[in-house]
Amino acid sequence: MNESNTLSLENEAGFKALFQYATVGILVVSSGGRIELSNPAVEKLFGYEKTELTGQLIELLVPEGFRHSHVHHREGYFKKPKARPMGYGLNLFARKKDGTQFPVEISLGHYQLDNESLAVAFVTDITERQRFNDELEAKVKERTLELTQSLEREKELNDMKSRFVAMASHEFRTPLSAILSSRTLAESYTKAEQEDKRKRHISRIRASVKNLTVILDEFLSLDKVEQGKVEIERETFDLYDFAEDLVEEVNGMLKNGQHIRFSYNGVRNITQDKKILRNIMLNLLSNAVKYSGEQQTVYLDIDADNDQKKVVIRVRDEGIGIPQEDQKNLFNKFYRAKNATNIQGTGLGLTIVKQYVELLNGDISFISEPNQGTTFTIEFSLNHPGHENDLINRGQ
Ligand code: ADP
Repeated sequence: MNESNTLSLENEAGFKALFQYATVGILVVSSGGRIELSNPAVEKLFGYEKTELTGQLIELLVPEGFRHSHVHHREGYFKKPKARPMGYGLNLFARKKDGTQFPVEISLGHYQLDNESLAVAFVTDITERQRFNDELEAKVKERTLELTQSLEREKELNDMKSRFVAMASHEFRTPLSAILSSRTLAESYTKAEQEDKRKRHISRIRASVKNLTVILDEFLSLDKVEQGKVEIERETFDLYDFAEDLVEEVNGMLKNGQHIRFSYNGVRNITQDKKILRNIMLNLLSNAVKYSGEQQTVYLDIDADNDQKKVVIRVRDEGIGIPQEDQKNLFNKFYRAKNATNIQGTGLGLTIVKQYVELLNGDISFISEPNQGTTFTIEFSLNHPGHENDLINRGQ
């Protein structure tokens, strides 16, 4: 008996210390909502003196906007009191004496004393925890974004790999099997009168090797431009003559009944990298021819506008066009539109063209309608700024 008395006394002292020194705010509230007891942690948390709190309604510590509903919650709680952790899924805020608000977590307990129902609330300031959570959340978001981006990059690489394999298996195999079969046949034509047949097969071999060389050249060009190894060498030349030569070259690739209509407006002399421009235009023109049918026309319109100081080149065809869903990927490596699978190609030309146009500080765009045709437009400045300065400097 004595022992338990001692124990209970010790407990009381212990509990007092616990109440006094707890770093969590402890409040005892009557069923009428009045503060009966508060520990020093509450005073520190809320900035009130103990005397300012005792006897006050607990809503004093609730932000103004929530006071009204808090009265309802409190009354509801005392009607059916039970211990419960608070703050689960709730964002609770408390109000300091100076009006500032801070996030809190509150757990509630209740007990009876002399027929009076009392609630005990444990209040923890979670400002720091929330800041930490916010920081963590921001970090998680950032990392998730990085991860998504690298997954997308990986997916993009995988797609590119599949496109490459599809392209390579077709574009390499076709000329290689043509070479093999023509070689075997050419060997079998041993008689003098079979000279014609031998020649036909040898020229087939030559054409196939040329195809392979074109593919290899495209690879090398792309690699060179991607490595930043392409140097721009600008010179002043007659764009009209230049374009006319190109048209003549492309005339050699035309299908039955196809022709090129060339129109030219504006000044003739421009300053640009001839080799790169040739590559761009040849690519666009040969695509226009390749993706058009017999009897169709390819239009080359050039406008070298001295007032606007820019050159606009349009290559238009009346060919198969580009399906809407393929248009956004057209400049991706090895990408080929669905309607182009039966036509030879690597899906590298436009990737190279785009990179070249960027090297010239120009723009490339296109509009296309399936079965109606496609127009590619490139724009770049008529005189390279560096060159203009040269002229001005020389003029001075
Ligand atoms: P390639 O012609 O070797 O396949 P490109 O990079 O030059 O590769 O073109 C990529 C794709 O864009 C083509 O496979 C084709 O689907 C589409 N394309 C390009 N130019 C045209 C055009 N003038 N008309 C229709 N489709 C085109």
